[in-house]
Amino acid sequence: MPSSLILGIDLGTTNSAAAVFEGGQPRAVEVDGQVLLPSCVGVDAEGRLIVGQAARNQIVLYPERTVKSFKRMMGKDTHVTLGEQKFTPTELSAVVLRRLKQAAEAQFQQPIHEAVITVPAYFSDAQRTATKEAGEIAGFEVRRILNEPTAAALCYLSQDERDRTFLVYDLGGGTFDVSILRSKGKVTEVLASHGDTALGGDDFDRLLYDFLVERLKEQHPNLAFPLPLRAQHRLLRAAESAKIELSTESYAQVIEEHLAEIDGVPIHFRCEVKRRSYEELIEPWLQRTRDSVQKALNEAKLLARQLDEVILVGGASYTPAVRELLRGLLGVEPRMDINPEYAVLYGAAIQAARLAGQQVDRILVDVTPFSFGTSCLGFLHGVPSADCYEIVIHRNTPLPTRQTEVFCTSVDYQAAVDVKVFQGEDPDARRNLFLGEFWVEGLDKKADAGSEILFDMRLDLNGMLDVQVTEKHTGLRKGITIKDAFRKLSPEEREQAQQRIRSLWDDQSETEYSLQDAPAHGESFDLPPAPEGLAKEQQQAWLRLCELLKKAQQKSFSLEQADREELLEIIHRGRGHLERTDLSKIAECADELNDVLFYLD
Ligand code: ADP
Ligand code: MG
Repeated sequence: MPSSLILGIDLGTTNSAAAVFEGGQPRAVEVDGQVLLPSCVGVDAEGRLIVGQAARNQIVLYPERTVKSFKRMMGKDTHVTLGEQKFTPTELSAVVLRRLKQAAEAQFQQPIHEAVITVPAYFSDAQRTATKEAGEIAGFEVRRILNEPTAAALCYLSQDERDRTFLVYDLGGGTFDVSILRSKGKVTEVLASHGDTALGGDDFDRLLYDFLVERLKEQHPNLAFPLPLRAQHRLLRAAESAKIELSTESYAQVIEEHLAEIDGVPIHFRCEVKRRSYEELIEPWLQRTRDSVQKALNEAKLLARQLDEVILVGGASYTPAVRELLRGLLGVEPRMDINPEYAVLYGAAIQAARLAGQQVDRILVDVTPFSFGTSCLGFLHGVPSADCYEIVIHRNTPLPTRQTEVFCTSVDYQAAVDVKVFQGEDPDARRNLFLGEFWVEGLDKKADAGSEILFDMRLDLNGMLDVQVTEKHTGLRKGITIKDAFRKLSPEEREQAQQRIRSLWDDQSETEYSLQDAPAHGESFDLPPAPEGLAKEQQQAWLRLCELLKKAQQKSFSLEQADREELLEIIHRGRGHLERTDLSKIAECADELNDVLFYLD
């Protein structure tokens, strides 16, 4: 243990934590057996100060003597009354910092006098000064106030001094920040920072809480609302647990026995929450983060493709819908190989170690180098296919990991499913490495199409992949274990896969066009009618293409061989788009045909 430890501290709105860097690895401080100390302060019934989990536990019952989220008040000339006593936001932060200092000194068996403390990139001078003062009140010499996104980026910086551009997406308990950073040599600067100081995981808890209250009202119409405080508290906790569960599971069960009473009779509450339903609830909130990401990019004058890394930070960014949103918006796989709840903390510890003169290399974590998933029905390049690849465990996920997804049966009374497991990234399952296959037979014959099948994948550090499939409503279950899931596709396997794809394409829709298929003079061809439910614009594009196709066919008979072939090829393609209802191509093809006809006239 080095003689003078400098503590790295993430002083968060919801949770705070401390760590040091030692032997090439961060070592987090545990307070009451936990790394995350809730940033919550209160006084108990006797007027004694309490901090962390104990304070958090009493917040719903005794709001008049408990406070959280005081980080939002930092730098303001205000105070909070807890019971009989008054505290400034700086003092409240000092209480949290002091608790961390005590725990660190006990764990490392030495006095610790110095600290690096992180703050949001948007913090003003006054807010930074208040944070530094809080550190001093707690008994630290504050060696550095470090921006949170910079700290997170430090975890992902290697020793090489290449220029790199990062986007840090930090979704915490009560706040959302997105920052764009550029690192050059040893300097990392914040190019843009945007955020929303009233958006975070706590809001998601609220939404889910309201959802649960609605279910409760349906189940017990005679129950009096608002619920007693204790019941509200339990339900809010249950909502948060369910939310966290839904980050890895497709369903969460909320079970609260004896939640309340009606005329002295206890009532029990049970409710199942689907990940899909939860995602619908939080969707508008996630859209707001999307707007902020866009604004930050505009402000930094960057395009998504100029980003080298997208880093996920903050507990709420575990939500799979967050990763999906960023993947879709930025076209890169966001990184969370450093636990998002600890990224800022570990960065603070790295900075602290550097100030103490230690050489700090990259943090090493084990992640999966490939994605894993299964094939299912869907659309591949606009064509219906049973070989769509659905990723369940994404590349760069830290190991060990477990993920579940819900799939549905595709026809009524389906008796079996064929489960294929693949490794790779291609949307076409057949282009990925096939790892194994099994059948689940004996499904409930009475079930309609859309009956739910749970797909559960676990992957450990040694590349052992366990796949379990369960018919949800009967519990019927089957699975396989694949021992060497990290195996690479050999060159022969790649060649074979490519050949297989080629041959499959050939007997599918995109066959080479041959003149023999062209209709004879005077023969007209059938064009499929526009399907129902198209938007007005799509319907117009459909009709326009049909008109142009007919015109082109008439025209084709009067052309020279070369022009004729060219036109027939377009006609063939256009008919294909209509037959496959490939809406994205229809308007484009109509434009092309229009141009060619114009030229031929
Ligand atoms: P802050 O930076 O505001 O102190 P954190 O980064 O510690 O906050 O994030 C806390 C939030 O993250 C809480 O709302 C918590 O419920 C949420 N959270 C923690 N783990 C998960 C998870 N696995 N899935 C979804 N949300 C989570
Ligand atoms: Mg944070």
